[in-house]
Amino acid sequence: MQSDLDAYTPLTFWAKYARITGRKSALLILKETMQRELIRNIAIIAHVDHGKTTLVDAMLKQTHTVKDGPEGADLIMDSMDLERERGITIKAKNASVVYNGVKINIIDTPGHADFGGEVERTLKMADGVLLLVDAKEGPMPQTKFVLKKALELGHKAIVVINKIDRADAQTEEVVNKTFDLFVDLKATDIQLDFPIIYASGINGVASIHQPHHPGAKALEDLQSPDLIPLFEAIIKHIPAPTVNAEDPFAMLVLAIAYDSYKGKMGTGKIQAGKVTKGQNVVQIKTDGTKVNGKVGNIMSFEGLSKTEVLEAVAGDIVSISGFDDISIGETIADALNPVQIEPVHIEEPTVRMTFSVNNSPFGGREGKFVTSRNLRERLMRELETNVALRVEETGSTDSFLVSGRGELHLGILIETMRREGFELQVSQPEVIYKEENGVKEEPYEILTFDVPSEYQGPVIEELGKRGGELRHMETSQSNEIHAEYLIPTRGLIGLKNSLLTKTRGTAILNNLFDSYRPVANINSDTTNSHGSLIAAETGVSNAYGLNNAQERGTLFIGPAVDVYEGMIVGKNNFDTDLEINVNRTKKLTNMRSSGNDDAIILTPPKEISLDFALEYIGNDELVEATPKSIRLRKKILNATERKRANR
Ligand code: GDP
Repeated sequence: MQSDLDAYTPLTFWAKYARITGRKSALLILKETMQRELIRNIAIIAHVDHGKTTLVDAMLKQTHTVKDGPEGADLIMDSMDLERERGITIKAKNASVVYNGVKINIIDTPGHADFGGEVERTLKMADGVLLLVDAKEGPMPQTKFVLKKALELGHKAIVVINKIDRADAQTEEVVNKTFDLFVDLKATDIQLDFPIIYASGINGVASIHQPHHPGAKALEDLQSPDLIPLFEAIIKHIPAPTVNAEDPFAMLVLAIAYDSYKGKMGTGKIQAGKVTKGQNVVQIKTDGTKVNGKVGNIMSFEGLSKTEVLEAVAGDIVSISGFDDISIGETIADALNPVQIEPVHIEEPTVRMTFSVNNSPFGGREGKFVTSRNLRERLMRELETNVALRVEETGSTDSFLVSGRGELHLGILIETMRREGFELQVSQPEVIYKEENGVKEEPYEILTFDVPSEYQGPVIEELGKRGGELRHMETSQSNEIHAEYLIPTRGLIGLKNSLLTKTRGTAILNNLFDSYRPVANINSDTTNSHGSLIAAETGVSNAYGLNNAQERGTLFIGPAVDVYEGMIVGKNNFDTDLEINVNRTKKLTNMRSSGNDDAIILTPPKEISLDFALEYIGNDELVEATPKSIRLRKKILNATERKRANR
């Protein structure tokens, strides 16, 4: 396989000639207009665990972009733990390989609807997509949203049916399911006619022919001992970027990268012309104002990292430094002929909560970063790249108002921070209201759900209570209901917990911001009403105390857990709060000793995940997140003070 772009060709000769004489030959101009032919930008869409890392790794190795053998053997495009747990890509990681002289930029796509805007911008850098599907599991709901966006942008897809070596592979069914998915997503006839590549990333092989057998025998069916059929398909079916190579330089910033030395960098696909290090440019803000600047460093993808290049041409994806402040949607353009590219829309935050220093009695016990300064710095750093996030100071130095695209967007930030060693406390998520022509408006989302038809009743009832309006419903052949609702974001808070209980965990929900509309007539107090079981004293829980508590509701903790006064230890069966002493041990009598807890059978406590906690808490409660624990608490810990405040 040839991967050397710099081989001595007549073109490099003419390029040198042009540099020396200052004259461009016709051939060099031809080279510039053709350069886009030597680039392919392809976005990869894959459910976590379907083999993206392994496949990209094999693509890198076979093009000799990374070394084979021990030092190159690590899978470097690997996913974060958090991504594995949630089945979605959170931080997109890009890669680039050169196959037969063509540079293939592989653009990773973030995987969830909360990142809607980001998904769209990422896809705009690409000229086609690669949908990677596990040959056993088939396409998953988490990838549906991104694929839909890609198809809407008019991208052509190559479907890679991966892991055909699995003994339980159901290649034929998976192909059919994928086809149905494309139909569902209203693919055009051209998009429906997608090429299929059958692959085993782990074995580094691919074929355009469907194997006749599953398992190891599938590999014998393949004609090609490598990934060449995949590379060839990319070159053949994914169009080269359409650009104006002859026009003055222009690039729309679609992502922000942050480098501790180079500062904030704007990333995008060069739409016109070429860019050179040190070149004079203007930065055109979204409102059209222009700021003069100079190109600092140009970074281009190479393998799994970025390397500095002195020049880049239209069609390529690069990050450019040199601007004090650069934002998504701005154009970087030639200084003499600045042309603004139509800015992309940045989604406004719809949900907010306060992030504050952990001031619970256990604050500082489990984390590395616990001060308000730590918290402040971390949030400010996040703002550099997390474009849909807003952070505002509050009256107190210990807390910040953080706004984002949804519970998931903020939840992922909290989860990431606690894994980095932070301790923090967050309040109940609340929607952000707006006023339009004197009318108060709130955010609405499109909620889609899939649920077995037997649970249809309770789901529809619950959505009705929460202000949902049915938009579309259909029943599949397997008797699953698929429905689409327009629902106020406010109505979504607490919805997942409630529906999962009502459908025995079978409901699959996805939501995406739709628009701001006049405030709905729903009472959030009734949709998220609950009573909590609250620890009455600080101490250690024990079976005897918990046994009393479990008769009242659902426990969130087991025995031998440190608790503090005001900590929530369970959910009351009634909608009112109840203080309960879970540390109480049985009174010693002459007859029996306190060790006699054997007869007590405790139901295992409900495990508290961050998602659950954020959905659960009411407006007088907080979530305490530390690297080791997620605890729920009342804002006011002391029972007497709490009662006084409620009066
Ligand atoms: P990602 O989460 O999509 O990046 O998936 P990975 O590349 O990390 O792979 C997930 C799991 O699938 C790992 O255990 C891999 O070893 C396994 N895997 C990846 N490619 C293949 C393949 O072609 N065949 C089989 N049988 N397993 C594979």
